[in-house]
Amino acid sequence: MSIQPLVDRHGRIASDLRVSLTDRCNLRCSYCMPAEGLDWMPHEGVLTDDEVVRLITVGVERLGITEVRFTGGEPLLRRGLPDLVRRTKSLVPAPDVSITTNALGLERIAPALKAAGLDRVNVSLDSVRAADFARITRRDRLADVIAGLAAAHEAGLRPVKVNAVLLRGINDEQAPELLGWCLERGYQLRFIEQMPLDPQHGWTRTEMVTAEEILSSLESAFTLTPTGVARGSAPAEEFLVDGGPATVGVIASVTRPFCGDCDRVRLTADGQVRDCLFASAESDLRTPLRAGATDAELADLWAAAMLGKRAGHGIDDPAFLQPARPMSAIGG
Ligand code: SAM
Ligand code: SF4
Repeated sequence: MSIQPLVDRHGRIASDLRVSLTDRCNLRCSYCMPAEGLDWMPHEGVLTDDEVVRLITVGVERLGITEVRFTGGEPLLRRGLPDLVRRTKSLVPAPDVSITTNALGLERIAPALKAAGLDRVNVSLDSVRAADFARITRRDRLADVIAGLAAAHEAGLRPVKVNAVLLRGINDEQAPELLGWCLERGYQLRFIEQMPLDPQHGWTRTEMVTAEEILSSLESAFTLTPTGVARGSAPAEEFLVDGGPATVGVIASVTRPFCGDCDRVRLTADGQVRDCLFASAESDLRTPLRAGATDAELADLWAAAMLGKRAGHGIDDPAFLQPARPMSAIGG
């Protein structure tokens, strides 16, 4: 079968697919979900495991998708996750398969995920101080995250990557502490600038902790040198820590956007293609899928959906409008 790459009008090709498996979560990170949760998607609106695999198959076999990352909401809440990983990994050509998770429950399921063929995990952890973790996530679950990280490392899902968001006045002085903690355990840490995807629409650029601030805070305790590896479509700028080989990354989505090199496309848990985290429009694949569309028809619809992808997220544009869905419903 010939591949019809997912090209947009700016010449970018999307080959990295983020699949959200649910909008639900067992944490309530303030930058992602309100304390009371959200009106969850109705069960029947969420793609079934077979529907998810069907769309991923179209992506891999017809549209040149080479990387699949399961996310959410919290992807570990999806009971069929190991099987979804196994079925995705058995596609030809086999994509790279990873998950982004808060690690609650990872302690138990890490060996099954490894056995299913999972290549990697990214675990989100913003503070290793229990009180601050609970303040940010509104749940007292730091010990479970730490156990989940250790289990992933033990199961061979290496390198275990940790993603952290810094919030002013809460954990913004903890960058060196987090890095030291990750280095001791062999985890690769990356900081992500907070993006305007919070449900309260309370994000402001001045409140955001910038990549520059993060780097200068890290440099108070470590010597950082650029790895010299071109960033390409990888969003993190990587630095050697104290001469290496350990590294730390900073994802400056807001202050140093990488939209020009973006190779991502997203599928929401209810079967909508989003060409960008910040897209204001989505393209429905669930309705045609359930109405009996062929793989070729789904591929055409998906390819057409990419043509509206904008050149950049435009956060700095005064006319910027935050997407209607918060991060947890888009799939981070
Ligand atoms: N529940 C999983 C987790 O937390 O890893 C997966 C979904 S979560 C939406 C994916 C990533 O998005 C997490 O690393 C989280 O920190 C990040 N995230 C959520 N809201 C964000 C925001 N407003 N700005 C930047 N990153 C955000
Ligand atoms: Fe849940 Fe992840 Fe959002 Fe936190 S960032 S509320 S863990 S989906």
